[in-house]
Amino acid sequence: KKIIITIDGWSSCGKSTLAKQLARELGYVYIDSGAMYRSITLYFLRNHVDWTNPEAVHEALGHIKLQFHANHKNGQSEIFLNDENVEYVIRDLVVAEKVSEVAAIREVREYAVKQQQEMGRKKGIVMDGRDIGTVVFPDAELKIFMTADNAIRVQRRFKELYEKNPNVTIEEVRANLEMRDYIDSHREVSPLRQAEDALVLDNSHLTIRQQLDIALGWVKERL
Ligand code: C5P
Repeated sequence: KKIIITIDGWSSCGKSTLAKQLARELGYVYIDSGAMYRSITLYFLRNHVDWTNPEAVHEALGHIKLQFHANHKNGQSEIFLNDENVEYVIRDLVVAEKVSEVAAIREVREYAVKQQQEMGRKKGIVMDGRDIGTVVFPDAELKIFMTADNAIRVQRRFKELYEKNPNVTIEEVRANLEMRDYIDSHREVSPLRQAEDALVLDNSHLTIRQQLDIALGWVKERL
């Protein structure tokens, strides 16, 4: 039996690390829903789309094609925006500064959610994001809600960004996480919420192996 696993939670609490490992262990497909919102934001920024104008948003979405392909070296799924691999550029702070604003737009969410639901039709999928257990797959067999202490989340994301760009500061990273968490949990359309039937995983003091084992235990109870 194959199931749908959803992982939601605050920014930078390790959702994608867990999601990737679960997918690998179970032979499931991993979908990073945040990468879709980031790619749409990248397109809007590059093409100077005025996203406060609903018509401009509608028109722009009509020109966007998003696809996930497995990297042939490591098998990990990577996102393509109109056939360009943008998996790495979308992690930039320039995109992170605007993504929550873009992800709060109703039509953007409808566009992304429709494709996400389509990808889950075959089951055997792990998807992480903010509204996956509440809106995208409300009937998922396993819903995980992840949290971690703020300071720990800031440290982790800082380390990740610093490796790519030594000019980044910890204050910048903290401000960005706080801003995104605020917008993501206060927006009108599908705000970040813990689904009622979600299992909470606080990984502040867990190793990556420990959190994987906990999650695998939950999976086994559902197979
Ligand atoms: O997961 P990640 O941090 O890459 O997501 C980037 C942003 O995309 C989030 O801060 C949020 O604004 C948006 N997002 C969302 N719904 C999702 C996934 C991401 O609104 N399911």
